[in-house]
Amino acid sequence: MECPICQKLKEDKNKIYEDNLVSAFLEDKPASPGHIVIAPKQHAPIFENYDDKIVSHIFVIANKLSSVLFESLQIQGTNILINNGVAAGQKYPHFSLNIIPRTENDSLKFEWSPKKLSDDEMKTAELKLTQFTGNVGHEVVKKMEQIKPEEAEKIQEDEDEENYLIKHLHRIP
Ligand SMILES: [Zn+2]
Repeated sequence: MECPICQKLKEDKNKIYEDNLVSAFLEDKPASPGHIVIAPKQHAPIFENYDDKIVSHIFVIANKLSSVLFESLQIQGTNILINNGVAAGQKYPHFSLNIIPRTENDSLKFEWSPKKLSDDEMKTAELKLTQFTGNVGHEVVKKMEQIKPEEAEKIQEDEDEENYLIKHLHRIP
């Protein structure tokens, strides 16, 4: 059995855009009418697996498709949503980005209750992060860790679907 997103990318059903790097289609279970999913054609579990070129392209296309939604559906806003990793609610081991059209009083909720952090907790988070942010923006070319189709098939044979998803989503670079 293949990755559900790879499978989806091969079909033309509900496809609204395609180029050599990404495809975009209407979500089967939409949050609102016009809910778009963009997925890179290259299979990889999470955002961090993709190189800068693909990451940039995903956002360029997301921006343009968001504009298309504004023009075509007379909406008032969009939420750009990425569930990156199992802990973040990702369902399939293939990165994707959602564009969710919004209208006033559409009753969708994308909110969180703010956590109250002490000054110490904030300072600790800041210090931990800034140890690693020195190279951000420099030429950091990450090597794409691509799972070969044969390898994915073998894992799928050995394990049930849930284990397969978890194993791949936890493969953090
Ligand atoms: Zn895939």
